[in-house]
Amino acid sequence: MTNDREFSDLKLERKECPKCGAIWMNGNHTWATGAKGNERDLAGLVCNKLGDSRCINPQRGFEGGDTWEKRLDDLSKMSDEKDVNF
Ligand SMILES: [Zn+2]
Repeated sequence: MTNDREFSDLKLERKECPKCGAIWMNGNHTWATGAKGNERDLAGLVCNKLGDSRCINPQRGFEGGDTWEKRLDDLSKMSDEKDVNF
């Protein structure tokens, strides 16, 4: 018997999507900024557009997350409220 098993349980598992460059730490998606990620948002923003069979995001292909359309929509609403003309 060795302690190898205990050590392997403690190690930080880092997976990177070979297609999108997204990072998973111990199975949790993490944004490049280090903030806690959201696989559904990642899918809407990146993987659904850029991903292919190499993409490892389990939420790839699912709708309902954040998208650029939604973000642009929010931006234009904000600019309406502030009366800013682009
Ligand atoms: Zn991906």
